[in-house]
Amino acid sequence: MSAFPPLNDLKLLRTQAYIDGRWTDGGRPSLDVINPADNCIVGSVPNLDSVAAEQAIDAAARAFPAWSARTGKDRANLMRKWFDLMMANADDLAALMTAEQGKPLIESKGEVTYGASFIEWFAEEAKRVSGDVLASTWTNRRTVVIKQPVGVCAAITPWNFPISMITRKIAPAVAAGCTIVVKPAEQTPLSALALAELAHRAGIPAGVINVVTADADNAVAIGKTLCASTVVRHLSFTGSTPVGRILMEQCAPTVKRIGLELGGHAPFIVFEDADIDAAVKGALASKYRNAGQTCVCTNRFYAHDAIYDEFVRKLAEGAARIKVGNGFDQGVMQGPLIDDAAVEKVERHVSDAIEKGARLLAGGRIHPELGGRFYEPTVLADTRKGMTIMSEETFGPVSAVTRFSNDAEVIAAANDSEFGLASYFYSRDIGRVWRVAEQLQYGMVGINTGAISNEVAPFGGIKQSGMGREGSKYGMDEYLDIKYLCMGGIE
Ligand code: NAP
Repeated sequence: MSAFPPLNDLKLLRTQAYIDGRWTDGGRPSLDVINPADNCIVGSVPNLDSVAAEQAIDAAARAFPAWSARTGKDRANLMRKWFDLMMANADDLAALMTAEQGKPLIESKGEVTYGASFIEWFAEEAKRVSGDVLASTWTNRRTVVIKQPVGVCAAITPWNFPISMITRKIAPAVAAGCTIVVKPAEQTPLSALALAELAHRAGIPAGVINVVTADADNAVAIGKTLCASTVVRHLSFTGSTPVGRILMEQCAPTVKRIGLELGGHAPFIVFEDADIDAAVKGALASKYRNAGQTCVCTNRFYAHDAIYDEFVRKLAEGAARIKVGNGFDQGVMQGPLIDDAAVEKVERHVSDAIEKGARLLAGGRIHPELGGRFYEPTVLADTRKGMTIMSEETFGPVSAVTRFSNDAEVIAAANDSEFGLASYFYSRDIGRVWRVAEQLQYGMVGINTGAISNEVAPFGGIKQSGMGREGSKYGMDEYLDIKYLCMGGIE
């Protein structure tokens, strides 16, 4: 078993799935959860299949009429209790997350707060789901719009943010009056189950939230069941673009509403008028957080000729200062990558870039002392189009910096991607700021900042980074149907 700090509340380490308000192993063999830092087993959860998915859908369908009939204020009160419980147990939730995902404890704590913020936000929004009365074109009829929950929902989530990617979906769904079945990632089910335990304690009724755990093979079967179900009216997925495409296709026969939060390949442009030190700080935050394993991590840096040498030098110095290690160790800023495949992908991107002429300024190898899945924070200069790293999502701690000489050239390069999630740029010229912000083909633009996510802002992408928005005042719309009432006979 992996050593991690003892939990204050041992009952938060749940090792059964949560269906219809009960803990169950579904009569299925268990699946070990591995700490990527040391390969030790953190715990085991049931490896469920489509039978359990059907049971969870049935439970969610049974719970829907009563849950959706409650007032928004009533649902908000329960969600508020859930939020308070998350904050009260933040240390334990963070420890579980670091143990199964590897990120530094300080980042896990940040994610617990970020994840809980969606529950707080959508609890508040639950009270503000209002319809509309539109001006009528007839004197004897009235045009009324009401909003209703879409029904039973399903969520499939990734391992890189084991709590917030779930709460960003559950919170708007249950606030709107929907019920939901969640399939967390194979590598990080313990955070999801701890969340369910706290929802249970908060008094959220049986069947409103269900968590079905599974390995990668069963995930495929469960995904098919969720997509094929005529009871499930909405599927929200966060993960890679290839899997998003599969799920979109699988949802077509039932014409299901879908929300897709997919891969990214963020550009980060540093113009010649930028505050270089601020840009380097933003670059380090954007690139190396979660060991580069976030969908909004920068994948391509573009630095103007006039400041190129200074920027790459300072970026390499900053990367070399990042302390790598077990996420539980004091002062660690970067943990391990999630698995061996992730390390192999990073190695492939780095060696391809170097073979094609990139200059290695920092890192570039598995950490010599720590070994395993620990990869050194890496900086490559003089990268260019045609290198794999310039088009494929790296999902690792590697900066690739390319030189540019004018605005038109760099905007074209930045937009030359199938992805359209996050983008960043640094400039102090107000005219340029507006021009570039409007021309970047991305769902989100960070201007003079490398950190953009919060519950108030609409998170999401365009192009092959997905569709729909999470968080913000727009996030609830995904879980609401608009109904038009034509009220006649008014003489
Ligand atoms: P992934 O391989 O697409 O897996 C995501 C989830 O889908 C996991 O729960 C996985 O289960 C499940 N899954 C995989 N194949 C499936 C199938 N055929 N049918 C049904 N479910 C299936 O992605 P990942 O490697 O976990 O996460 C990294 C990706 O997520 C990156 O591309 C990143 O950019 C993206 N991401 C996007 C956002 C955003 O908001 N846009 C946020 C975070 C991450 P198993 O774990 O059991 O395989």
